[in-house]
Amino acid sequence: MTPSARALAADVRARRRSAADLAREALDRAHAARHLNAFLDLFPDAAIDQAKRLDARLAAGEPVGPLAGVPVAIKDNLCLAEPYGGRTTAGSRILADYRSPYTASAVQRLLDAGAIVLGKANLDEFSMGSSGENSAFGPTLNPHDPARVPGGSSSGAAAAVAAGIVPLALGSDTGGSIRQPAAFCGIVGLKPTYGRVSRYGLVAYASSLDQVGPLARTVEDAALALAVIAGPDPHDATSARAPIPDPLASLDTPVAGATIGIPRQARSTANHPAVAAGLERAASALADAGARVIDIDLPHADRGIAAYYIVALAEASSNLARFDGVRYGRRADLEAGQGLDDLYARSRAEGFGPEVQRRIMLGTYVLSAGYYDAYYNTAMKARRLIKQDFDAAFAHGGTGGAGRAGGCDAILMPTAPGPAFRLGEKTTDPLAMYLEDAYTVTINLAGLPAISVPTGWADVDGSRLPVAAQLVGRPFDEPRLLRLARTLERGVGF
Ligand code: GLN
Repeated sequence: MTPSARALAADVRARRRSAADLAREALDRAHAARHLNAFLDLFPDAAIDQAKRLDARLAAGEPVGPLAGVPVAIKDNLCLAEPYGGRTTAGSRILADYRSPYTASAVQRLLDAGAIVLGKANLDEFSMGSSGENSAFGPTLNPHDPARVPGGSSSGAAAAVAAGIVPLALGSDTGGSIRQPAAFCGIVGLKPTYGRVSRYGLVAYASSLDQVGPLARTVEDAALALAVIAGPDPHDATSARAPIPDPLASLDTPVAGATIGIPRQARSTANHPAVAAGLERAASALADAGARVIDIDLPHADRGIAAYYIVALAEASSNLARFDGVRYGRRADLEAGQGLDDLYARSRAEGFGPEVQRRIMLGTYVLSAGYYDAYYNTAMKARRLIKQDFDAAFAHGGTGGAGRAGGCDAILMPTAPGPAFRLGEKTTDPLAMYLEDAYTVTINLAGLPAISVPTGWADVDGSRLPVAAQLVGRPFDEPRLLRLARTLERGVGF
């Protein structure tokens, strides 16, 4: 087990360890775990070079940041320019040769804090998927059982952390892509409030849902990473100006007196028994720390999947229109007599994988004249109702309206209904794959922060697989959310 990011940075700052050694060791681990296909690119030269510069700055007594020398992995839908080469594929053939001329703001903040980027992590193409199997560059394997998926779409980021290659990775979460792979891999995954972290330099999937966040092995490291990457950014007009109290400062404040709501829907009989047991263990851990655990109702939660897969795909069809082989993306070779329409059609047919094509078509359909009201507008109404359910649960004053319990400081539910499934198990059934996201997508539709924390193990066909629960917080209330998550983490003792 490699030490935490926080411990490594402390060692580097105190010059007990050199950043260059840490980078070399992480690269060795990455090579030893090549079979996982967690990385699309490794940067041995740039990483060691950057680490040596950091060591030199330390030797010269210059100040370094809170992530000094920490090797990190970056999901390959986040732009990273020189000295790391710029290649940013989003897991797609259409961007296989794309080189970004600039670095995503969240990544830049990690670099400014002293992190050393070890490599770009594999992902489902354009972040569309729940298993990692939609990558154009082959699936990532789950470190706990290589016959199983690591979850997705931040598949490589989760596998790299779970395999102990790096203590910290950056991913993105549109409908669960940080939390679900974190759950499948037995690590912590934080989706911040929409707007908390800049999306500048993130390859867009669904812009009203996308959010960048950390995957780590501990809640403390997730808090540390959030403190580094959060905050307003002039390059992203949706980045919030709300104040960002340091989540680390209050991480160990007692949570006694907090109210935790468990939605009726979270105790679905469709949950794997280990997931159900993990949820109860998490609830007990919080109750033992003095929290009040109550039952609540999120009456529109069952509309989440339908609403999400309309809103997300509508936005995706619009966002992905830029990949036309001219402005962006690999250009198809034309034959004599073919024109501009052929260029678009062939570039997209050759460049996009089947799931991305399916989603562009569905998204275009739900936005088309005659269907817009029936699908897109209806989904937006469902989105509003889902948001109001959460608002009611969080509302102070005892009752959340309609006779429902309110006053929750956080909501507890499973991250995924079961542990990691087998490679290929759901690839032929898109709907079964989409249903994996039942617990995660409503939170993106409502723009709320949520964190997945391991709660135990499932024994499945001779494999020992992690299961997890997530805590959902009020908007911009990450410090409290992380405090509760830390309490859960300690109480469960994963
Ligand atoms: N699995 C969901 C989807 O495929 C969520 C993906 C994500 O959060 N990027 O859309």
